Amino acid sequence: MHEGSIVKSLFDIANKIKEDENLVEIHKIKVIVGKFHQIVDEVMFMYFDLMKKEYKGFENAELIMEERDVKIKCKKCNQTLLIEEPIFICPNCESFDTEIVEGDELHIATIEGEKN
Ligand SMILES: [Zn+2]
Repeated sequence: MHEGSIVKSLFDIANKIKEDENLVEIHKIKVIVGKFHQIVDEVMFMYFDLMKKEYKGFENAELIMEERDVKIKCKKCNQTLLIEEPIFICPNCESFDTEIVEGDELHIATIEGEKN
């Protein structure tokens, strides 16, 4: 259960952006989430709705999550492949010598709100 701390840090970042951009009310926060993080959507939304009351201007904010599949690149056979499970073995040649090229993202993509 790491969703709680993830949502907390997203709010902290969003709050900083809100202040920097002089926004008074936030409507939408779009977050890119790689499947590597194994986040449970419902839990994210639950924490989001709980915590948004504590941040001024976020009371009516909506969370939008955009998921990214996990892609790994095999250094042995040089293929880039999608994986379903977080087991980083090349499905082609079974090498462990792989690296994640997509799917470990976790960041805010856009914030929509009203300016003062
Ligand atoms: Zn391979």
